[in-house]
Amino acid sequence: MIRGLSDATSIVRAVHTRETSARDVTSAALRALGAVEPRLRAFLCTFESEALRAADLVDARVAKGERPPLAGVPVAIKDNICLGPDLCARGDGLGYGGTTTAGSRILARYRSPFTATAAQRLIDAGAIVLGKTNLDEFGMGSSTEHSAFGVTRNPWDTDRVPGGSSGGSAAAVASGVCPIALGSDTGGSIRQPAAHCGVVGLKPTYGRVSRLGLIAYASSLDQVGPIASSVADAALCLQAIAGHDGGDATSAREPVPDYSARLEDKPQRLVVGVPGQARSGANSPELADAFEASLNLLRGLGAEIVSVDIPMLDHAIAAYYVLAPAEASSNLARYDGVRYGTRANLSPQEGLRDLYERSRSEGFGEEVKRRIMLGTYALAGGYYEQYYATATKVRRVLREAFGRALATCSMIATPATPGPAFRIGAKTADPLAMYLEDVYTVGVNLAGLPAVSVPMGCTSGPGKPLPLGLQLIGAPLQEASLLQAAAMFERARGPLTHRPEVTAI
Ligand code: GLN
Repeated sequence: MIRGLSDATSIVRAVHTRETSARDVTSAALRALGAVEPRLRAFLCTFESEALRAADLVDARVAKGERPPLAGVPVAIKDNICLGPDLCARGDGLGYGGTTTAGSRILARYRSPFTATAAQRLIDAGAIVLGKTNLDEFGMGSSTEHSAFGVTRNPWDTDRVPGGSSGGSAAAVASGVCPIALGSDTGGSIRQPAAHCGVVGLKPTYGRVSRLGLIAYASSLDQVGPIASSVADAALCLQAIAGHDGGDATSAREPVPDYSARLEDKPQRLVVGVPGQARSGANSPELADAFEASLNLLRGLGAEIVSVDIPMLDHAIAAYYVLAPAEASSNLARYDGVRYGTRANLSPQEGLRDLYERSRSEGFGEEVKRRIMLGTYALAGGYYEQYYATATKVRRVLREAFGRALATCSMIATPATPGPAFRIGAKTADPLAMYLEDVYTVGVNLAGLPAVSVPMGCTSGPGKPLPLGLQLIGAPLQEASLLQAAAMFERARGPLTHRPEVTAI
């Protein structure tokens, strides 16, 4: 990174005033990527020459008097978000090849024919795509260890996971390669890796950002959103990607407010609700202390801290791990080796059934197969009422309870995760332990709410310092006030006491 230009806001200002060029920023970002990538493995592919060409196009736009809102900002895109062969709708002929793997062997040779709306909007706003980032296969996981293409390491401690499933995006931002990355969040995959990597992650309200071109995991829960180096950068990114899209029937028609304009304002009256579950005995002691200190910090800023009661939150994990696999089992049926996906090589004696069976057995990883089986079971005749229908009811009651709680407070606070990033390999043999990582995040997706994870401090050892995340949850479409509160918290908290072990800044 160019000194003093490590955040998107400063980069945009410097490129607009031509104090620097998008090309220089991009070259510096590519050097940073080259320096840290061998230790982190955050990227599945990178676009050196394409990024430099894209930067030249942005510089040309600026020279003509245009002021693209993300001019020259290097970004990374989670590899379940499609980039088509022709990236610039303007017909500049700039292409990134269309590779989109979703972290799966089954899509290793897939080429997307089009670009996801969220990615296209970033590009149109002047952002420069450096590459596609690693993830748990199809977004299923909390550590990025379930990628078919290797493990990404946490920049704070390379023996630990970066969280997941958007672990590559979080590691890229945390190591200073780029100030903004796109992630997707079905049950915490933006907020949890952001927390584990000491950066900001925002899951927008369901429908706020288009899902067109996001490879579906669980369609009633999936959202695209920013992982960013600061709350201000998250606001800039959300501004570019939010808004209605005719290509996604679930995208909201409500106008997009100006998220950056009022970011520095102090919310008029801030009442922060804390559910009893936020103080679970399962929280690590240091995280529990950091959470109480954060509430005190908010109190000192004039917030009123109140208790809220959301009993159904106890059942969020159980409901999520029925509903998400059920939707996944249906969404992943399309990878049959005929329409999509790598096709198994058949011997002359084998038939169509073998083609399906072998393509799917060879193409999907263990965790994805586990989810498909769980989901198929939950939807099967005889079990449907007991599992899928019950989980749907839990979801409705939970959504109503969140609604009631959010009528009595401005936002809800919980930790983003129960503890700091865990060691690589610590939970791979125990799926249930891995699922419990999501205890604070999945309820938000079931209720369709916006939530932000913002760093609240670091552990003090023994071992390397590790960041911890505070989660703020808002009412539908209240991203602006969530960002305001998160920005206020971030300013009052000040810089984190420690820095990542692997950093380009
Ligand atoms: N860890 C959760 C899961 O495995 C959430 C993943 C996500 O948000 N994509 O389903």
